[in-house]
Amino acid sequence: MTKNTRKAEPSFYQSVQNYFDNAAQHTGLHQGLLDQIKACNAVYRMHFPVKVGNEYKVIEAYRVQHSHHRTPTKGGIRYSNHVNQEEVMALATLMTYKCAIVDVPFGGAKGGVKINPWEFTPHQLEKITRRYTTELLRRNAIGPSIDVPAPDYGTGGREMAWIYDTYRTFKGDDIDAAGCVTGKPVNQSGIRGRTEATGRGVFYGIREAVSYKDDMAKIGLEPGLEGKTMVIQGLGNVGSHTAIISQDEGGAKIVGVSEVEGAIYKADGMDIHDVLKFRKETGSILNYPGATSFEKKDRYAVLEFECDILVPAALENQITAENAARIKAKIIAEAANGPVTSEGEAILLAAGKIIIPDVYLNAGGVTVSYFEWLKNLSHMRFGRMEKRFNQNTYANIVELVERLTGHTISDKEKALIARGADEIDLVRSGLEETMITAYGQVREVLKQKKNVSDLRTAAFVNAINKIASDYLSLGIFP
Ligand code: GLU
Repeated sequence: MTKNTRKAEPSFYQSVQNYFDNAAQHTGLHQGLLDQIKACNAVYRMHFPVKVGNEYKVIEAYRVQHSHHRTPTKGGIRYSNHVNQEEVMALATLMTYKCAIVDVPFGGAKGGVKINPWEFTPHQLEKITRRYTTELLRRNAIGPSIDVPAPDYGTGGREMAWIYDTYRTFKGDDIDAAGCVTGKPVNQSGIRGRTEATGRGVFYGIREAVSYKDDMAKIGLEPGLEGKTMVIQGLGNVGSHTAIISQDEGGAKIVGVSEVEGAIYKADGMDIHDVLKFRKETGSILNYPGATSFEKKDRYAVLEFECDILVPAALENQITAENAARIKAKIIAEAANGPVTSEGEAILLAAGKIIIPDVYLNAGGVTVSYFEWLKNLSHMRFGRMEKRFNQNTYANIVELVERLTGHTISDKEKALIARGADEIDLVRSGLEETMITAYGQVREVLKQKKNVSDLRTAAFVNAINKIASDYLSLGIFP
């Protein structure tokens, strides 16, 4: 089709609404209830001035709380020039379903500040972040029991520490103040394993999805991640951790990656640590030895690279009606939020591909945020009470086995068995358990509902039903 005759692509928000509607028809729920679940409950739009050099810049910012069926509401804050109300609404909406799918007891929210963070100095970013937090405080739109932000595109631990500090300045008497934001640095009441959490969750989700023999047979692949070829779009926090963990712990072969400067492809695989080191040293992935380089203007070629698993880990609306037919990967693993439009999805599904949807796959971030929030409310590191006790108990069992059997257990084996869990061990196992259980639930919907044939619709059905049951138990809807 030529450009002029093609139907306009749905916006990100429209895609999310389409996904909801597709799934809603399989739930049999009252239309009024579905409308309530679908609607964004609160949208805050703010403008505030910040002095940058000799100028005053008026900054546009948002916080959207999509659903209050559970509180606090939860979701990251994005710093990007592309931020707009609809985008933040779409992202907040996804957070609601995401939390429901992984049984994180929060409503969905999202924040956005319309700036290019790379154009500001750290001092200016600090001013913007603190002022944004103050705007949220004014509206009673932040707090451990109200709404809890986290990092997203363009923000990280540093920004979260500023938010926490600003909140504490105003709410010094709130003993749970640390729970007002997650993704904080570990020494600022953060939790070990939060930075890698989204990428690690993506890895667990992909590993789980490819473990089913029947599902893999349908797309002509053997079960198991080992040796599968993987392409990653975007080497930010999510993309880089997904690549590292999939390679190191899952044996996946990274054959292609892209970043803002371009893309690279090497059919027989690249060591992702080496690629990241090369980028750090040269400032670019381009000309990585042995790989074919695609310059900046051709970087979207990454989506069309030959591979088993394509991981879009950048931004929304990457796979659309325009390029979907050219995607060669058999599995599209949505590490980013909204990388495939609803039109793009229809083409991919018709071509027999498996899409592991964002609402499930990238929920590892908010899952570990939930652990961080719990840690903050309990005022104690996970594992502190039981680690030594467990270690001693296991050591006693090992000794007993040695005594009863007459066999000596090597020091290496002892160290492996007789150990108590540290915070990082518990976070990782909690995350692994969450991702596996949630996948099982989504797959079960696929099995139960004869008219549902894709993972996204199944995931949305699962989410909608869980949220609906909260409303139904209140007797608000029939
Ligand atoms: N921004 C992340 C997401 O899109 C994390 C949200 C959170 O941890 O609250 O899921």
